[in-house]
Formats: sequence, C-alpha cells, structure tokens
Amino acid sequence: MTDCLFCKIIEKKVPAKIAYEDDKVLAFHDISPQAPTHILLIPKKHIASINDLPEQDSAIIGYLHLIAKKLAQELKIDQSGFRLVINNGLDAGQAVSHIHWHVLGGRKLQWPPG
Ligand code: 5GP
Ligand code: ZN
Repeated sequence: MTDCLFCKIIEKKVPAKIAYEDDKVLAFHDISPQAPTHILLIPKKHIASINDLPEQDSAIIGYLHLIAKKLAQELKIDQSGFRLVINNGLDAGQAVSHIHWHVLGGRKLQWPPG
C-alpha cells in the first residue's frame, strides 16, 4: 500500500533498525521505545487491523508468534518476561493502519495498561 508507513519500511523507502526479516514478516525497533526492548513485528502483507484479517491469513498469526518467541530469545527477554500487544482501532490507540505486534520487555511492565 503506497501511503502506508509500515509498507514503506518493508520496501526500505523509510529506514528502520531491522531485528528480523524473512519473506513473510519483518521486525524492527520502535522509533519511540516504551521499554528497553520494543520491537514492532508485522506481516509483509498489508492488513490494516484485526478487523480486516482474512480467514485465509490465519496461519500468519501463528507464525508471527513463533517469530516473537525467536526474537525474545535472541534479545534475551524470554526468561525475564515480555509482552505482545496489538492496538486495534481508535480506542486502543492504533496509530498505524498496518497490523503490528508490539514486543515489549526488559523492564517490569505495569498491568493493566492505561
Ligand atoms: P500503534 O500506536 O499503532 O499501536 O503503534 C505504532 C508504533 O509505531 C508506535 O509505537 C510508534 O512509536 C511507531 N512508529 C511510528 N512511526 C515510526 C517510524 O517511522 N519508524 C519506527 N521504527 N516506528 C514508528
Ligand atoms: Zn501497510
């Protein structure tokens, strides 16, 4: 999608510090980290939100979680603990309309989120 920021990051038209990449997914460091480790994990296919997730793409959800596990191990937050967050829609504060998982760790996280 031409005016999607995360699609531009996938296409390397906007720079980002990449943590993991393969043909299906991309993980990169958040520009405004909310924890010592704050990665954004996205499918390369443009899907705007959970509301727009097609049934035939359900496999990518499981796959993204396996990549989150791999990233957490590599970034050494798997044992201390980490959080996966999807902000979906306005009330949740979704600012970028390309589905993304926040991978947050490296400090004690508060619950519930604000
Ligand atoms: P949301 O609020 O949609 O769940 O999360 C969007 C995230 O994207 C925010 O945490 C924000 O800091 C991050 N972000 C916004 N613009 C950029 C950018 O240009 N580069 C990177 N790496 N992250 C960005
Ligand atoms: Zn996109």
